[in-house]
Formats: sequence, C-alpha cells, structure tokens
Amino acid sequence: MKITDVRCHVLLDPGYEADATSSAQDDLVVEVVTDEGLTGVGESDINAWIGRACIEAPGTHTMDTGLRQALLGVDPVAADPEELWDRLYVATAMTGRRGALVHALGALDIALWDLRGKAAGVPTWQLLGTQAESMARPYASLLPHARTFDDLLTRFVEQTTAAQRAGFGAAKLELLICGPYASTGLDEADDRMIEIIAAVREATGPDFTIMVDVGYAWDSALRALEVISTWAEHGVYFVETPLWADDVSGYAELARSSPIPIAAGEWLATRFEFRDLVERGCLHVLQPDVGRVGGLTEARRVCRLGQEHGLRVIPHSWKTGITVAATAHLAAVTANMPFFECVPKDMAESALRRDLLRHGPDVADGRFALPDAPGLGIELDEDALARFERAGTARWPG
Ligand SMILES: [Mg+2]
Repeated sequence: MKITDVRCHVLLDPGYEADATSSAQDDLVVEVVTDEGLTGVGESDINAWIGRACIEAPGTHTMDTGLRQALLGVDPVAADPEELWDRLYVATAMTGRRGALVHALGALDIALWDLRGKAAGVPTWQLLGTQAESMARPYASLLPHARTFDDLLTRFVEQTTAAQRAGFGAAKLELLICGPYASTGLDEADDRMIEIIAAVREATGPDFTIMVDVGYAWDSALRALEVISTWAEHGVYFVETPLWADDVSGYAELARSSPIPIAAGEWLATRFEFRDLVERGCLHVLQPDVGRVGGLTEARRVCRLGQEHGLRVIPHSWKTGITVAATAHLAAVTANMPFFECVPKDMAESALRRDLLRHGPDVADGRFALPDAPGLGIELDEDALARFERAGTARWPG
C-alpha cells in the first residue's frame, strides 16, 4: 500500500463568534489517500489555515521537509508507527519540534491510525494496545453560551443536570469569567466562581463528579491557592489550567499545596513538553489533546509517561467526533485514564461538533461502547464537509 495523496480541509462554523473562548468553531480535517482505495481521516485542534500550510508547504532541504511531501509514497501499513512519527518529526524539525507543525502532524498521525485499522479490518484500539480492565468514561464538557453571570449560572445548572439525566457521571464547568480568556464579554471577580460551583453541586447531589477549567485565570500561585482553597468543600475533582502556561515554577508551587488536583496540558506538543512539567512536579493530571500533542502515537507515549510517574491522564478533546473517537480508542487501552473529555453533541455550541460526522462515536448512558468498526469507526458527512469548507474559504482562501 502506498500513500498517493494528502487532502486538507479547512472548515469553519458559519455562526462562529470571535469573542467566544472556543476552538471548536474551526477545524483542520485531513484525509490520507492510498492506492488501494482506503482513506484515513484525522483532525487537529489548531488554527486550520496555519495547520493546512504546515502540511502542504513544500520543503527545500533535509531539516525542513514538507509533511505532505514526506508522506507521499510511504506504505502506512508496513511502516512502524513510532518510527514513522520520529521520521516526520526529524524531517520537519527546523520549523517544527513544537507548536503548529506538531499539531498538524497530529492530524496526519490520527488519519494513519484510522488507515491501519481499516487495512487490518479491526478497530484501531486493537492495534494501539491491550484492552484496559475498565474503559475510561467520557465526561460532559460544558461551556454554555451566556453574556451575563446570572444567565451563565442558570445555564450551567441546566446543562449539568441534563448531562446527569443523560447518564454522565461527571461534568466539567468552563468557568471562563475572568482572566485572559474570559468568554463572550464576561468580566467577573474570580471569587464568584464558587457561586456556580455551589449551585451545580446543590443541583447534582454529592455523587456526581465536578471538574473546573478556569482558562489560565490567575497570574500567581498565591492567588490561585486563595480561591481554590474555598472550593474544597464542594468536592472539585481537578482544576484545569489555573496559571499561565509558561509559569512552570508557579505550577510546581501550586501542585505542592493545592487541596484540589492540578490539571493542564491541552496546548502541549510532544511528550517532551509533558516530561518537563512532570519532572518538575507541576501536575497531578495530564491532559494531552490527541491532535495537538502530535497524534495517537505521541498521546500514547504521554500515557506511558503518566503511568511511569503514577499520574492520571484525562485527555483534552474539544473538537468534533473525530477527536472524540480517536480519544475513545486510546482510552480503551489506557489503564491510568479514568475519564476523557467529550462535548455532548446535543449541548455543543459548535455546528461542526453537531453535524460533521454522519457516523461517529456514540455515547449512551454516559459511556462509550468499545468501538468495533474497522479503523476509528467514523464517517464524514460530505454535504456538511462541503458547507463548512465553503465557509472556511470565504473567511480566508489562503
Ligand atoms: Mg481547557
């Protein structure tokens, strides 16, 4: 089998809002095409226009090869997945190693794993590893659209209890009310976060798992600790990205003293970035995004790193059903993964999450069935793909 083409699709939700803190409104979807009629599909959580350039741009020398160029002619089944990943990483290292290029490589790596499963006629998870004794459960990730605090609180309570009725045992509240990524114009004091947490806890009862993402809200470990400490009685499972991504010593200080586990990693590329934080004792929960970290190959290496250090891995997955499906396959083989992120389709603000797939991962009763279709078990809705691609081209043809 030989790779004959790599197609990139830049997608945009026509109803996107520029002041929303949500990367689910655009998408880079890739198709890796082979001479045997099989095509693998992947995506990554990255500025889609930049991601496309990372793949399509040609290179002119050995340290800066184009990703598409490097893949053409490769046999995706015969190549060892980790060796192929390493080869692409080395071939693009001058522009890559971290950031956008690794995120784009992640979309291709997911498509390659879809291909490998389809070629073997088995679900991808069977090629990724041994089935974990109990499969991680998806948690409902919630970012209700609201432009006032009172409306936000009401909608969080509505959505969390709806998720609970749908069978979810856990939900994450995107409390983006202050800091650099306050969403949809909100600008509230950080000590009001507890009002939402308390209201949701009262509505769900004590047996429901509540996670909180504050979106890099605090500029010091001291202030983060002051606020987080007041939440302890409400049983918060983890607090996500409390500090700015580069404040490594702040994370180390906070992780030593926080009464609530500290989670981060959604932006990180490669296992090397995770290793730096893990070795400095910054995190209790690792949150690789399967696309952004560099694909399933690299996400699996981060899971191993977590296992070696006795840490939980709870992946980030704020995208379409492609990422949710890829993450579910990883979950099927990862023992140290109690949960993974999932925006419930019927609560998603993004039309991409709702409409892009004709067939995708199904959540029933807050659980995923172990996938059994060949590859990732997803099917693009070609009409939706074309509609979102037209919106992407209208925004910027590139
Ligand atoms: Mg987050």
